[in-house]
Amino acid sequence: MKHNEKPSALIMIFGATGDLANRKLFPSLYRLFEKGNLSENFAVIGVARRSLSNEQFQENVKNSVQSVASNSNNIDEFASHFYYHSHDVTDSDSYVALREMAVQLDEQYQTKGNRIFYLAMAPEFFGSIATHLNEDGLTNVQGFKRLVIEKPFGHDLKSAKELNNQIRTAFSEDEIYRIDHYLGKEMVRNIEVIRFANAIFEPLWNNRYISNIQVTSSETLGVEERGRYYENSGALRDMVQNHMLQMVALLAMEPPIKLNTEEIRSEKVKVLRAMRSIKDDKVDKYFVRGQYGEGILNGQKVSAYRDEQMVDPQSNTETFVAGKLLIDNFRWAGVPFYIRTGKRMKSKSTKIVIQFKDIPMNLYYKTEQTLNPNLLVIHIQPEEGITLHLNAQKTGNHMNATPVKLSYSNTGIDGINTPEAYEKLLYDCMRGDATNFTHWDEVALSWSFVDNISQHWQQTQTHFPNYESGSAGPKDSDVLLARDGFFWWPIGDLEVEKYQ
Ligand code: NAD
Repeated sequence: MKHNEKPSALIMIFGATGDLANRKLFPSLYRLFEKGNLSENFAVIGVARRSLSNEQFQENVKNSVQSVASNSNNIDEFASHFYYHSHDVTDSDSYVALREMAVQLDEQYQTKGNRIFYLAMAPEFFGSIATHLNEDGLTNVQGFKRLVIEKPFGHDLKSAKELNNQIRTAFSEDEIYRIDHYLGKEMVRNIEVIRFANAIFEPLWNNRYISNIQVTSSETLGVEERGRYYENSGALRDMVQNHMLQMVALLAMEPPIKLNTEEIRSEKVKVLRAMRSIKDDKVDKYFVRGQYGEGILNGQKVSAYRDEQMVDPQSNTETFVAGKLLIDNFRWAGVPFYIRTGKRMKSKSTKIVIQFKDIPMNLYYKTEQTLNPNLLVIHIQPEEGITLHLNAQKTGNHMNATPVKLSYSNTGIDGINTPEAYEKLLYDCMRGDATNFTHWDEVALSWSFVDNISQHWQQTQTHFPNYESGSAGPKDSDVLLARDGFFWWPIGDLEVEKYQ
């Protein structure tokens, strides 16, 4: 597709009455429409179980985009591209009716026969939908056909392989767009630019100059109404297997030969292959799991995980994971990558801290100063930006080295409304750019790494709950770093002065 060509396609959203469709997909499509990034030649078929007329569905769509719409005049026009098909995903006849509707809309909207199938439904349906799409002729198209598939992609390597084999009967690998919405986030995409467009970082980006890297993704929310899903998942599968390992791969990969999908993916795969596998009793040395108990958050008392809806009162599911990863290659040998993710933590923050090694000697010892390490902090959410922590002399502070921060913030710029991750990913998919989606090789390697950990955890006892809601996680997570002579940089605002 040419660079400035606007994509035409028929998009079928399976699960169109669900939370993801209403909260993310419709508003993202609207933003693309409003910015003029979609051609007039697009139509959407919402597919779900409930019986709805096209008009009722269009009302839902309008309600869902209202909050992001700057111009309410074009909402009706946008919603007029939406159609509804009440559907049972296991019923062949229903696919035949869907196909007929699709053929008619292809014609009406001149979509060039391009089709995107977005599976925004419970994962147990993914395989059977893909099989039906193939067998009932929906993938028989003139233009491109693409499958967008939500997480979780399997529950472990075995189930992920089964699912992959099933969808591969209908779609080739380059037609499968596995969503990891972290890869749509502005600052996650920026990792590549920070690294590969700046002469001052790349020469330092290795074990000679970096002492450790910390990736934290903390939430204040608990499990909310997702207890049933979460009980079978836990933080390791829900966050580490996908988002956390993807961020590590982007941080650690070699500069690709070109910034295209194949080259970037191939470098990320090499990182995942170089990641030291941790199994059996080593797991306890490298990984810490936790589950939140009750506590106080924003002045409110909140309940323990075991007291949440649809959660087993004896549950051993982890809501927190911290881990130390080692990447056994020339660039990273000896540099720990610490990852940490949890629910009901004291603040919501996703952040990467790159801690540089200390300089060889401290010339400021006479003033009894310890110098702070240089840090490069990439703020992913809710703040978006970069901070470089240096030491400099502040005015009037003769001969003293004082920590200073150079900051760039996306969120501080007036009028900039950072595009939603889903907006970018949908746009990428329509343009056929799969760079920010996960390739099967990455999925498989990530599962084999994570499976070793979950297998060990399944066989060993927990002492849950082991962290209070509103805290920074279990004490053992601090011990993990303290053993190496490090500590976690704080989750919230990072005021280095306090760490002197
Ligand atoms: P949801 O439960 O809110 O919606 C499910 C949708 O599937 C509904 O439209 C429902 O009608 C439809 N459905 C269920 N059974 C059906 C059947 N037999 N035939 C036809 N339609 C049927 O779920 P959700 O939160 O929107 O999540 C959808 C997917 O997206 C899941 O895989 C989830 O893991 C993933 N996901 C969701 C979010 C989110 O923010 N909600 C974030 C990341 C990933």
